[in-house]
Amino acid sequence: MNLIFPEIPDVNNYRSTSQRIRVLSEAWFKNEMYCPACGYDSLLKFPNNSRLADFYCGKCGEVYELKSKGTPLGKSILDGAYYAALERINSSTNPNLFVLHYCQNSVEDLTLVPKHFFTPDILKIRRALSSNARRSGYIGSIIMYSDIPERGKIAVIESHSELDKDIVLNNYKLSSRLNVSNLNLRGWLMDVLKCIERLPNSDFTLEDVYLFTDELALKHSDNHNVTAKIRQQLQFLRDKGFIKFTGRGKYEKVIIRNYEQ
Ligand SMILES: [Zn+2]
Repeated sequence: MNLIFPEIPDVNNYRSTSQRIRVLSEAWFKNEMYCPACGYDSLLKFPNNSRLADFYCGKCGEVYELKSKGTPLGKSILDGAYYAALERINSSTNPNLFVLHYCQNSVEDLTLVPKHFFTPDILKIRRALSSNARRSGYIGSIIMYSDIPERGKIAVIESHSELDKDIVLNNYKLSSRLNVSNLNLRGWLMDVLKCIERLPNSDFTLEDVYLFTDELALKHSDNHNVTAKIRQQLQFLRDKGFIKFTGRGKYEKVIIRNYEQ
């Protein structure tokens, strides 16, 4: 994989940096990126401003969005119009997201967030643009990247170094085990997964996870049996091989980063 953006002769005709970066990063992505779902060699571009996504796989039909940043992938990423973005998260056609961090004209990091790691609360609304802005009244959104579980961030390129394609494909496949289409259930799963990730040790107990009961109750105020819901998610995560049950309310995290399962 060549990590340098391609030469595009008329790219300097774009006046805004964000447009130039979009053109360069999309051209690079189309040249270099494969489909992480099926391994097909290349992805195809949707027409510009497609409401669905930016790219799709001609073989398996999986869809992808690409967002680029000139700073490391930290807390948040700017997204498009809030209500359209929210509708997309709520729909079954929500795309997978690639986040690209570039430095000058080359790719530093590329991370894939599979679509089923998105829940509506990951998206935050921005203040409407003021009446003297060019797009007055426009309401944008922000993806709270730091609120996505670490298990949902699959490295493709890390610190200017490409990961083995087989590892990426395997990680995507493993992550698909957590694909829950019901958004309420998905919300519970992601929230409990994030709680587990916040526990400092790889060994933990049911009591450790119960420490998050109040926090989870606030987020899911319609549910009055939070501890039962926590146990249900732990069982699901155990069945899918993300945690191990080691007996008497004890668990162990299964390390799945650049995973060798
Ligand atoms: Zn594919």
